[in-house]
Amino acid sequence: MRKAVDLAAQSVSESDRADPPPAVGAVIVKDGVEVASAYRGQCASGNHAEKCAIESAKGSDLSGAVVYTTLEPCSRRNAPKIPCAQRLIDQGIGTVYIGLYDPNPKIYREGWKMLRDAGIALRDFPANLRGELREINADFLNQYRANGNPHGSATFDYIRSPIFSIGSSPIMVDTKWFHAASGVIHAYSSPGHIALARYAESLDEIDDPSAMDFEPEKYSVTAKEGNVVVFRGPHEHIYAIVRVEQVLSLDRGDDRNEVQFTYQVQTINIRGPLDELFEKEA
Ligand SMILES: [Zn+2]
Repeated sequence: MRKAVDLAAQSVSESDRADPPPAVGAVIVKDGVEVASAYRGQCASGNHAEKCAIESAKGSDLSGAVVYTTLEPCSRRNAPKIPCAQRLIDQGIGTVYIGLYDPNPKIYREGWKMLRDAGIALRDFPANLRGELREINADFLNQYRANGNPHGSATFDYIRSPIFSIGSSPIMVDTKWFHAASGVIHAYSSPGHIALARYAESLDEIDDPSAMDFEPEKYSVTAKEGNVVVFRGPHEHIYAIVRVEQVLSLDRGDDRNEVQFTYQVQTINIRGPLDELFEKEA
């Protein structure tokens, strides 16, 4: 694991890439002997570390081998590219140690699941090495964090355009609105993805949005001005917290149909509470 982290630090970024790529190192060990290792971009520009390490093993039998990789193996790639999780499964790898889980919501825990479902034993790197990996990957991780960025306000005609997307892909939550009554509006999401934060008066009062009661069948809540609604995104670690500020309606005597709200996006679970504790001590 130590070696994989050191390799990760040597990763080479593609020259033409706009978004920050991850730094990844991978080491393959069979019967206690290192067979191959690689960092991202070592074999060719943009090549994933696991793919490169497997290729460096030059066809040796890797069945039952242990792979130490600093980032959760990818679970999807554009065809004809093969995701690393699939490559590891195809090689008959026995155990995979994972450094960081991929913060990309499309991959987060998906790579782990693919490997688990294939019968591969899974272990995590210890917290001190994960801390090092987070430092090496600060830019990569930050692009998926909601910190500071997605919060603001929205004002729109809920009759003409009832759907409003909060945040931007991949950290995005779709919300839907419909006319209710004077100073009141219906808020919609998919079943099990919406909750009224009863009695809350401000966004700051929501500590952990996942603590709300998301009833499985419930897809709408009725919110008054001043109420706080919590939307759960398509991925369970992304939430939008919304405070309904004002609801105007033509049949109330207003000159337009309009909802105004303030919002804040929160991501949770990407870093666990234990990790944060560790960082505070460090
Ligand atoms: Zn990969």
